[in-house]
Amino acid sequence: MSRRRLLPLSIHTRLTLWYAGAMLVILVLISAGSYTLLAWSMAQDVDRSLLTVADVMRDAARGPDTVEATERWLREILDPDHRLFQLYGPDGDLRVKSSRLPAGLVLSAAARSNVALGRATFETVDLNGHWVRVVTVPVRRGERLIEVVQVGASLKPTAQTLRRWLEALLVLVPLGVGLAAAGGYIMARKSLRPVDEMSSAARRIDAEALARRIAVRGTGDELDRLADTLNGMLARLENTFGEMRRFSADAAHELRSPLTALKGTLEVTLRADRSGVEYRAALVSALEEVERLIRLAEDLLLLSRSTAGPESPRARVDLEPLVLEVADIGTRLGKDRSVAVRVGPIAPLAVLGDVGALRRAALNLVENGVKYTPPGGRVDLSVVADGADALVVVEDTGPGIDAADATRIFEAFVRLDAARARETGGSGLGLAIARSIVVAHRGTITVARAAGGGARFTIRLPRA
Ligand code: ADP
Repeated sequence: MSRRRLLPLSIHTRLTLWYAGAMLVILVLISAGSYTLLAWSMAQDVDRSLLTVADVMRDAARGPDTVEATERWLREILDPDHRLFQLYGPDGDLRVKSSRLPAGLVLSAAARSNVALGRATFETVDLNGHWVRVVTVPVRRGERLIEVVQVGASLKPTAQTLRRWLEALLVLVPLGVGLAAAGGYIMARKSLRPVDEMSSAARRIDAEALARRIAVRGTGDELDRLADTLNGMLARLENTFGEMRRFSADAAHELRSPLTALKGTLEVTLRADRSGVEYRAALVSALEEVERLIRLAEDLLLLSRSTAGPESPRARVDLEPLVLEVADIGTRLGKDRSVAVRVGPIAPLAVLGDVGALRRAALNLVENGVKYTPPGGRVDLSVVADGADALVVVEDTGPGIDAADATRIFEAFVRLDAARARETGGSGLGLAIARSIVVAHRGTITVARAAGGGARFTIRLPRA
């Protein structure tokens, strides 16, 4: 299933939503924590003050004071509205009860058993819909239980405070989230504005305006790096487009020369009445030009095909039979020119690729070796392993290639020795074709000066 939503959200909307969501979670956690802490500390306060009052009551119970007297001085020292008390006899009989205490407060079973053990008991009880916190404390004289003091405080003020805090949180949390979302939106918009600018700048760039570049703001941040990357890509594209333009111009130029020659031959022949022999000679010359044109067209086709990549890149290609076959063809070509083609050491290696294309690449090197080596010379072929790569080496005893031309000669239509090239009929595409085949097989092709001064071409391919 596609991850594309029905409604695509922009990055700044998504960032804002994430930001607001994270803020909401944080604020809710803080609120829950603060609420719990407040409730807990208020409960502690209530319990502590109840114990204090119970202590006072216990002391009062020892004296001769009446309930009224006790209530009176309780009112003096404490907030009387919420102080409620009861005194029981040792048998649990109710002796005294404060006037404000509503009916219904009794000694619970738990309180009774704690009293028997001499311990205080804290309880929260519901007195007619009124929550009250109660402490029950035994009063002992020596070992003897003489009285039980019960003091209560209404939980209403505590509940009110907690409710007010909750109400405040219910306002503050959404407000905080809202402000965070607004801030996040503004921030996201501001920081993503350069992306919008970049995309509109990129929209203005097309094949005709490849020299344009996206503005780099100089902040050195991710967006600047993105702009740099895009600019790098544009530079490479511009370069490639330039190369293609040059290539088309060169190709047109190469096509024009044989066509002009053909036209010249035909025009000159037609200018006067000719004998059969003359017509024949003209036609032979025309045919030569046509053959040159066909060769050129075939080479151009081969180059464009090999640039597109090998047709069956996954097939295993054994280099030994391939090299032997190429050497065989080379030997036949070399016979006319008295150039020997020899096979040196051949390691039993294989690569992945298109056997026909690889044969073409190796054959172009051998053909050049035969073409440019003077009679009596030699072309040597070998295959060696170098780490994870296989090297196909073609070395000759010809004039060799200067280091300055080592890269240039792999470009299309480049010929180093125009006079000789014309004589040999080369189109200047042989090495370009070889290179594009090797590159499509993820390999490299290089040339160096051989020990004997000739050219030493090396095709490096990853081994299968
Ligand atoms: P061409 O069709 O002219 O042979 P290539 O692309 O095959 O085109 O070669 C480009 C140029 O490189 C040739 O014109 C030649 O000047 C030079 N060159 C190629 N191979 C050799 C070699 N083995 N020895 C000397 N020069 C070479």
